Amino acid sequence: MSELLFASNNAHKADEFRNILNQQLSILTLKEAGIQINIPEPHPTLKENALEKARVIFALTGKDCFSEDTGLEVYALDGKPGVNTARFAGEHASDQDNIQKLLESLAGHQNRSARFVTVICLIWKGQEFFFNGTCEGTIALQPSGQTGFGYDPIFIPIGYEQPFAELGMEVKKSVSHRKKAADQLAAFFNNPSLHMSHEASA
Ligand code: IMP
Repeated sequence: MSELLFASNNAHKADEFRNILNQQLSILTLKEAGIQINIPEPHPTLKENALEKARVIFALTGKDCFSEDTGLEVYALDGKPGVNTARFAGEHASDQDNIQKLLESLAGHQNRSARFVTVICLIWKGQEFFFNGTCEGTIALQPSGQTGFGYDPIFIPIGYEQPFAELGMEVKKSVSHRKKAADQLAAFFNNPSLHMSHEASA
């Protein structure tokens, strides 16, 4: 089984990737690798931020690694918060602050449709590859549920009536943005030579 370093300090994301990929890949977190680093996300796109995170960790370790960047795009807000999803309510905003700001921003809007977008950047044998996944849904009127992280208490995936935080990991790991991007990552490792001649585009 291939071992991959996950270029992130987000334990929730690492748990989700492990849940989704446990048969195919062995994932090592930065903490488990003894690496303490805060990787910035300064770029205007998810793809550039994902690339920066993977490049920083590859430069530091020389090991095969992957990163991911995720954004929530709300249609009535012209795709915001998008690349600024983590900082929607300010540089050091908590999940609760961000959720509150999003609910306030959507007050009075009929259209509460939104989607999560995940971009994965893999650096494998020194080459860079990108995979992406999206999950369409709607923004709830108020937060509910205990599982997951981030905006999970207010994101209702299409086909369901409750947010991810109520639906739990079993549903999230089968329909989420991260699941769809991770499936492509798994497919890569099933047949790397198929991808080696060209870079997958995000
Ligand atoms: P980043 O990809 O770590 O920059 O995350 C961007 C923002 O989206 C943060 O506020 C995360 O908490 C949030 N986020 C990322 N993935 C998810 C998810 O799967 N569910 C809910 N919120 C998420």
